[in-house]
Amino acid sequence: MHFSASAGLGLNLGRRTYFPSSSDDFVNRVYRRPNLVEPGLSTSSSMSNSPRCQAQGCNADLSDAKHYHRRHKVCEFHSKAATVIAAGLTQRFCQQCSRFHLLSEFDNGKRSCRKRLADHNRRRRKTQQQTQENQNY
Ligand SMILES: [Zn+2]
Ligand SMILES: [Zn+2]
Repeated sequence: MHFSASAGLGLNLGRRTYFPSSSDDFVNRVYRRPNLVEPGLSTSSSMSNSPRCQAQGCNADLSDAKHYHRRHKVCEFHSKAATVIAAGLTQRFCQQCSRFHLLSEFDNGKRSCRKRLADHNRRRRKTQQQTQENQNY
């Protein structure tokens, strides 16, 4: 399952620029860099070509990191850290959602957000269809 990165936190991270300058500029960008988006990588972020850890002050170059870390823009260290400052907020990398959540989403010490764990347990208990709930932020 994959949550849209454009909800919640994503807004703070992938700041989209709508080419405020001339349309010439727009054309140049489009034609010069047709492969801006890697296949399989559907983030809206266009900040840099080499993936970097989102954690504040880390900026680890993930070019040599595992695919997983590159894809989610988090270094190995910060994907396991109890707290990470990202986008100016204290967060933790959720191993279920593969993205950062606020600490309030986690039970103490857990690496998966409460919501996912609850989901998981619920599904395990009764195999009824439990349609995915949308994030509530
Ligand atoms: Zn990092
Ligand atoms: Zn989560």
